[in-house]
Amino acid sequence: MPEGHTIHALADRLERAFKGHPVEASSPQGRFAADAERLDGKVLERAEAWGKHLFVDVGDVALHVHLGLIGQFPVRPMQAAVPPSPVGAVRLRLIGPGHWADLRGPMICTLVDRARRREIVATLGPDPLRRRSQPHVGWERLHRSRRTIAELLMDQSVVAGVGNVYRCEVLHRLAVDPLTPGRDLSQEVWHQIWDDLVLLMPLGRAFSQIITMPDQVEAAQRARRSGRARTIARQLTGERLGDTFERRFLVYKRTGEPCPRCGNILQQNEIAGRRLYWCPACQLRH
Ligand SMILES: [Zn+2]
Repeated sequence: MPEGHTIHALADRLERAFKGHPVEASSPQGRFAADAERLDGKVLERAEAWGKHLFVDVGDVALHVHLGLIGQFPVRPMQAAVPPSPVGAVRLRLIGPGHWADLRGPMICTLVDRARRREIVATLGPDPLRRRSQPHVGWERLHRSRRTIAELLMDQSVVAGVGNVYRCEVLHRLAVDPLTPGRDLSQEVWHQIWDDLVLLMPLGRAFSQIITMPDQVEAAQRARRSGRARTIARQLTGERLGDTFERRFLVYKRTGEPCPRCGNILQQNEIAGRRLYWCPACQLRH
């Protein structure tokens, strides 16, 4: 499932391609035809993400999309006067002056009014990619829980946008025992987890890939400061993961390999329906 940085990158991409322009909207597959008609010809005003939820303001209507497990919404530059004919089940196609975007396989694709949008956002915890998010809201929702921090980090009402890769990697980066119940977690550690997400997720957003290895984090930060990240982002359509950096992680999918910090063997457990990768030898903090 795409994590929050992917949806924020998608919102950025939609804005770069369409913001301030009228869009042609249609539902080649037919399932969204009546709603697409309400968007058609209106100006795309704004696209924003809240965790894994995407909201796109088109005229006076807001489109709400959640990609779920298999959804895709690539934004491609126009190669000819018209985009190629839709292939397969395209729920929504947007066409602007220089770009086109096809939405396929979303878990949610619907139009929402302001009240409904507020309801959706109210169910979500703070989003490390939103500047005004408050980590204490997440703390309030986790610090009395018997559930483990590994499980709580996947709960979108505790923190919005974190998925399995960030969960595993951040807990290892901070040497936190993933099996610590929320009620035993110190507030200091919670703030460190939050700060690390605030550091890492913008890099994921900028490069459309999750970057957590210390050497790569440093290189990615340098690329952002120099403006190179922006050039790279403009070339990414969202069809596949970014590949600026070699895809490697501290613990994710590294069961049986030595821990990069202490050399002990990394393990996996099933937690919150997803595989947790971690080091039982050096992840001891809580
Ligand atoms: Zn270790």
